[in-house]
Amino acid sequence: MLDRLRTSGLKLTPQRLAIVKELAGDVTHPTAQELFDRLSSTLPTTSFATVYNTLGTLAEAGLCRLKSFGPGPARFDPNTEPHHHAVCDRCGSVTDVPIPAGTGATPSAGNSSVGEGFAVRAVERIYRGLCASCQGNVEAS
Ligand SMILES: [Zn+2]
Ligand SMILES: [Zn+2]
Repeated sequence: MLDRLRTSGLKLTPQRLAIVKELAGDVTHPTAQELFDRLSSTLPTTSFATVYNTLGTLAEAGLCRLKSFGPGPARFDPNTEPHHHAVCDRCGSVTDVPIPAGTGATPSAGNSSVGEGFAVRAVERIYRGLCASCQGNVEAS
């Protein structure tokens, strides 16, 4: 992701570098607020608005993806390849689900339910249920 930031033509501001470093490789799909909290020690003078706007800029440049998995704030995903997500009903955790090679993400896979004339670029599914740790809590209570 850092390499892509360098080749994206975006100016390498300290904020952008710090945010990219924080987001790259993060598989938890953090919200802007979560990133802001984590960055408060690295970027103590940076406001939430700046972090939020920077994330928007990065998303526009294709360096990360803005995702909404339901109610609540949007989440940021450093994984820009098509992939599915598993979202926990209870704690809201979001986990990447890789698409098996050659299936799922191919345009033909989603054509049946898509209106005529719509060109499918990718198929990304959201699986909803309970994550492993929440299933454990259900059994314990
Ligand atoms: Zn959970
Ligand atoms: Zn993801």
